[in-house]
Amino acid sequence: MRSEPGGSGPAAGGAPLPHGGEPADATDPALETVRPGQPTPGRAARVGPGADEGLADPDDAGRRQRYELWMRRALEIAVTGPDTAATADDIPVGAVLYGPDGAELATGRNERELTGDPTAHAEVLALRRAAERLGRWRLDGCTLVVTLEPCTMCAGALVLARVSTVVFGAWEPKTGAAGSLWDVLRDRRLNHRPEVYGGVLETETAAVLRAFFR
Ligand SMILES: [Zn+2]
Repeated sequence: MRSEPGGSGPAAGGAPLPHGGEPADATDPALETVRPGQPTPGRAARVGPGADEGLADPDDAGRRQRYELWMRRALEIAVTGPDTAATADDIPVGAVLYGPDGAELATGRNERELTGDPTAHAEVLALRRAAERLGRWRLDGCTLVVTLEPCTMCAGALVLARVSTVVFGAWEPKTGAAGSLWDVLRDRRLNHRPEVYGGVLETETAAVLRAFFR
């Protein structure tokens, strides 16, 4: 079982990480300008603790409002489950995929215990369902909203699906691959990098997970 998420992630602004080191894969010189906790160069998206400062920009007020609304929907999925009955054993993580027009395309809730499938994470399920619905694997222009920072598998799947924007709630310092432990989503060696917004409704999303692990 995982430990409680929602703790503090790496320091923002390029400050040294706790324990005196950075993730091993971030020491590559090619990654020099993409340290976890820093915004993607040249883009508006921000990630890392304090990232909501970027979202709080008046110019982005409408976007922030929309992401919070979508996050509430993801929280609803986390708590109640989408199509299948939520099980008490599965960590309550919910994901929703929105199309370029803002229409809800698919939802997913972590079903690892329910299905015995190690890949049945909320994000993967939402991606699969949306791709099935649209009849294609490319999900350009889409936004994936998830209540917990994606793991390496889900971050990889989001890149492969060409999702344009990733919005997540609670930080996951132990396994997070969107800025905490790795930054798979914004690795400059990849030619597709989604915009990332972290810590949206962080208090609410972390509370749901805390209640589960209590
Ligand atoms: Zn995952």
